[in-house]
Amino acid sequence: MQEMKIDVAIIGSGTAGLYALSKVKPSGKSFVLINGGELGTTCARVGCMPSKALIQAAHDFSRRKVLGRYGVEGHDGMEIDVNETMEYVQDMRDTFVDRVQSNSTDHMSDDVLITGYAKFVEPNLLDVEGRLIRADKIIIATGSRPVLPEAWKQFGDRVITTDDLFELEQTPGSMAVIGLGTIGLEIGQSMSRLGVDVTGFDILESIGGIEDPDAASTALSILRKEFPIHLGAAADITLEGHKLRVTAGEQSVVVDKILASLGRVPNVEGLDLENAGVELDSRGIPLFDRNTMQVGSSHIFIAGDVNGEALLLHEAGDEGRIAGTNAVSDQITPFRRKPHISINFCDPNICHVGKRWSELDHDQTAVGEVKLAPVGRALIMGKNLGIIRVYADRTSGKLLGATLVCANGENLSHLLAWCIQQGQTVGDMLQMPFYHPVIEEALQAALNDLYEKVEQKNPGPITELAPLA
Ligand SMILES: Cc1cc2nc3c(=O)[nH]c(=O)nc-3n(C[C@H](O)[C@H](O)[C@H](O)COP(=O)(O)OP(=O)(O)OC[C@H]3O[C@@H](n4cnc5c(N)ncnc54)[C@H](O)[C@@H]3O)c2cc1C
Repeated sequence: MQEMKIDVAIIGSGTAGLYALSKVKPSGKSFVLINGGELGTTCARVGCMPSKALIQAAHDFSRRKVLGRYGVEGHDGMEIDVNETMEYVQDMRDTFVDRVQSNSTDHMSDDVLITGYAKFVEPNLLDVEGRLIRADKIIIATGSRPVLPEAWKQFGDRVITTDDLFELEQTPGSMAVIGLGTIGLEIGQSMSRLGVDVTGFDILESIGGIEDPDAASTALSILRKEFPIHLGAAADITLEGHKLRVTAGEQSVVVDKILASLGRVPNVEGLDLENAGVELDSRGIPLFDRNTMQVGSSHIFIAGDVNGEALLLHEAGDEGRIAGTNAVSDQITPFRRKPHISINFCDPNICHVGKRWSELDHDQTAVGEVKLAPVGRALIMGKNLGIIRVYADRTSGKLLGATLVCANGENLSHLLAWCIQQGQTVGDMLQMPFYHPVIEEALQAALNDLYEKVEQKNPGPITELAPLA
């Protein structure tokens, strides 16, 4: 069979693949972009964007509950047609997919955009459903997929994942959400707010991947006010007439549908990586350097969800750019990675910044905290539930990380990540302006608490103001 010979092959036209392409294309090297499955990226099709459209609709509808406080009549009687909500979500989704495609693959010819699933035949030779492509450099950007246990497939479309959720034409009356990480919480709370009778289950004792115990218990007590949450036991599914029974330990519920949100696994199986001549970890993922995205010292790079590291869009984008840059360069350049930031858009937001609780040296870490209850602006917004926990090195006062369970956490977590990247101390941060009355004042209060606990203090009689040099 005739082989096509090119400089760079990118496998996967999701976010990581397209960002890699943005570096490969202008280099003048020959390339192909290979994609199996649907174009348009996981983010736009079934991920970040439709889920946020759903969350927005659910959040806006749930605000009717505070309207009574202002004397708005009839707020209790407001109704929502959830099927129409889903149509709106689908329209938004289509807009985002169109936008991605028109900016990327729409204008690519068939000899550059190759449709099909790629697998390795040799370290430099790929087979795309019968088409052979020999590439000097290969970027693996095949993404991830939702975990769906084999035994649950017998229940057909009664057990769905986020790959199916945004296609629903009829929303169920009742739904169990099994797995309460970011996706399970975001979707579970939204469906509950839209009137679906939701019950959440997780085998762990905490939700949203929160490790900080005080933040974890706060988040749990807030979200439990919205829908039942059962933790600490594996969920089992059995058929009950036309419905499904979910049983976990002592808890049991009968539902119309189940959302399996058990996490995502990297798409490595179909790639025949044993033919790629690279070392794999126990999950079958090639060993790679996170600063260069190079696999070992080979000609292969790996970017995005497929490497099993962050499973976040902005990380996929950065990794794609790094992989693309190094794939077309004569030398491999290591790039500095940014501080970790992850945002769960449930209400209140659950955010992690910098070092996670388990990564901290607790003997050397000071923790500052504020509860949202007395924060003026939060009270006015009707969102004064939550907690902000900030971590700093006890001696130097350098900010290390934070866990936030609070309104506007999506914004506050950025401020914190930016300060961590700048290497700022708690004292530095307190010398910056805080307006009134804003949610940032909650952060200021947490930082004040932290400042009391670190050794490094600001010079001068007023520690919040730097003396003029
Ligand atoms: C419901 C949900 C909500 C999310 N919300 C957020 C959020 O709010 N913020 C955030 O940062 N992240 C979020 N994410 C995660 C984010 O969407 C992903 O991290 C990101 O899309 C990963 O991009 P990627 O390029 O690695 O993979 P993808 O976009 O999945 O691209 C991989 C591509 O490779 C193709 N492919 C697979 N195997 C092969 C093969 N063998 N040959 C050829 N092609 C192949 C696939 O079909 C796909 O087109 C969310 C995800 C989900 C599911």
